[in-house]
Amino acid sequence: MTIHEKIARLRAAVADFTRLLGRKPVLLLDADGVIYQWDDAFPAYFHGHYSHLHVFEGEFNAFDLTEGLSPEAAAAVTKTMHDMDYSELVAYEAAIAVVPVLIEVGFDVAIATSHMPENVYSASAKQYTLTRDFGDLLAKRVLITQDKTRLIGDWLLDDKPSTVGQTDVPPVWEHVYFTQRYNQDLPGARLVWETSFDDLYDLVSAKTAAFASTTAPEPELFPNTGTPTYPWMTAEEPTA
Ligand SMILES: [Mg+2]
Repeated sequence: MTIHEKIARLRAAVADFTRLLGRKPVLLLDADGVIYQWDDAFPAYFHGHYSHLHVFEGEFNAFDLTEGLSPEAAAAVTKTMHDMDYSELVAYEAAIAVVPVLIEVGFDVAIATSHMPENVYSASAKQYTLTRDFGDLLAKRVLITQDKTRLIGDWLLDDKPSTVGQTDVPPVWEHVYFTQRYNQDLPGARLVWETSFDDLYDLVSAKTAAFASTTAPEPELFPNTGTPTYPWMTAEEPTA
């Protein structure tokens, strides 16, 4: 199947979903580790300031970058996250190519990202980079929150290898892992940009089918059974 055929198939699935559920499918996209790479900007800042610590000289394999580090190195990692300029993050080329297509085929796409409260400019840096890299397309679709369980959506595409959110209320969305080294062995739905037209086709089709199978047919308000079922319809007309 060519890429154009895959897009056409996804577009048809999104149309079916929209027709049956009466709304567009809502796709929430995490930013860091999904649209934006950490492999360049973070080590660059870290090594520029803490080169004597000799960590992150290869790939980092943990989601929590302080994992397994000495207290001094862990403190330097935390300080880096508080101090670095988030507008230095570089988007995955595939994300830049795919996200506009998802909007074009009919998804309601929003960015669901958390900023670091200790790095107050990280929130505006995220808004800046998304506008820099996607123009007007995402400028008004950016949701910045410390708690993604408060957001409404069908799927949250997130690389975090654990529960996302801070409330005890279960989220309304399904967590779909964006595959990274640190979550690749976990069970559950997952995708990467390169196969996202297929992966999203499966997710959208499954949700449409589930909705169709659990939705009872509209009850007939006035079933025509042939015989009147209401007492007032059988009551005899009062005679003079
Ligand atoms: Mg992330």
